[in-house]
Amino acid sequence: METLGNRKSTREIIEKYGFDFRKKYGQNFLTDDGILDRIVEAAVVTKDDCVLEIGPGIGTLTMRLAQEAGEVIAVEIDRNLIPILHETLAEYDNVTVIHGDILKTDIRGLISERGGGRLKVVANLPYYITTPIIMTLFESHLPLESVTVMVQKEVAQRMKTGPGSKEYGALSLAVQYYSRPEIVAAVPASCFMPRPKVDSTVIRLDVYKEPPVEVSDEKWFFAVIRASFNQRRKTLANGLVNAGHLGVKRQQVEEALAAMGLPASVRGETLSLEQFAELSNRLKESAQV
Ligand code: SAM
Repeated sequence: METLGNRKSTREIIEKYGFDFRKKYGQNFLTDDGILDRIVEAAVVTKDDCVLEIGPGIGTLTMRLAQEAGEVIAVEIDRNLIPILHETLAEYDNVTVIHGDILKTDIRGLISERGGGRLKVVANLPYYITTPIIMTLFESHLPLESVTVMVQKEVAQRMKTGPGSKEYGALSLAVQYYSRPEIVAAVPASCFMPRPKVDSTVIRLDVYKEPPVEVSDEKWFFAVIRASFNQRRKTLANGLVNAGHLGVKRQQVEEALAAMGLPASVRGETLSLEQFAELSNRLKESAQV
């Protein structure tokens, strides 16, 4: 079967269409068949699956997904890539290419048009919007089964790490509230065209049907987390009190921390997901009194 997962085929397509890479869209195309195999295997794609690919580029990963999945929906922002995709994917009748911005795409609508069901997201993400994409997917409570994505190495570390490490923060907590992250592969910059300045990692997020902790108000929970990490070198209490929009008073924070057996000087990066859930529930309750 044809593959674009090498430098020669990718260069041929680029030259044939006179395509100019656009930095602003985070365009670094994968040119390594071995890595494509790892991604598709890790995502465990079968003919029962509908896969959403974000940013298909010239269709390198899309083609592989089309061979394994029941259906593939690929959303690409760069209009110059659309005619290329129509050529490279011509022989696959189970692929729908959509020209658009993934952050403005009605993914729920796409799923219901296809009769519902759970979705697998597989992508080599545009790095400039990794966090907004991940957060949009999760916060819109789409029926996701898993999200298998190539991201910048440091971002994968932030997603996976726990309390106490300097990478731990709002992204770690959000990812671990919605899913179980699993590192799949380390990918050097030499596997892309053009070469990015950073190394990459493939990570799979197995989305929970139910979050592992109980939270009384999800929006409030994430607002508390963001405020707690807002001023990294300050205490969690300062971050929360200084975030005026939350309307919490120092005394409320200190009482909640004390009830949890934590000192008033504690820093956000030491609290686990469970502790953040408890803190946010307690603050929510005291804010309502
Ligand atoms: N999947 C291809 C591959 O692996 O070779 C390309 C990956 S490249 C890192 C990221 C792709 O996302 C590019 O094709 C880029 O044009 C596209 N992209 C960037 N921003 C996007 C957005 N907001 N919505 C949809 N696609 C986007």
